[in-house]
Amino acid sequence: MLLYLPDITESERRLAAEEVFFGESFAPGVTLRGYHLTVAYYRAGDAISLKIAGDMALEASCDRCGAPLELAVELEEPFILFPASAEEADYVYGEEAIDLDPFIHEAIVLNIPPKILCSDECRGLCPTCGKDLNGPACGCEKNG
Ligand SMILES: [Zn+2]
Ligand SMILES: [Zn+2]
Repeated sequence: MLLYLPDITESERRLAAEEVFFGESFAPGVTLRGYHLTVAYYRAGDAISLKIAGDMALEASCDRCGAPLELAVELEEPFILFPASAEEADYVYGEEAIDLDPFIHEAIVLNIPPKILCSDECRGLCPTCGKDLNGPACGCEKNG
């Protein structure tokens, strides 16, 4: 998905991100189910500002008990791009257009929750027998 440099003005414009990463896995056990993201962009001198915002739906499993779950994550990820000649710039743009896909990809990656739990109170699995401790007690001795 290309954004052509002449289309980038000093006043902010927006476009909807195409769903090119549908169904991809972004972390072990985490699959992207869909997203609605908007790319807002404008130019400020040599710099180009991109802001990717919206929400995405993930399919994952609880880090503690392994229960499958779906979650919605809101995100807002800004990027500042500089001409390719700029040294020490984290993000650069070329001569004609900006390929937005890598930025959309990165915005998604940066917003995958580091820890995914079915509930903050999830008790996980018994380290002895492997039973889901959110259900009836398994009877094993508690270690610790
Ligand atoms: Zn859990
Ligand atoms: Zn047990």
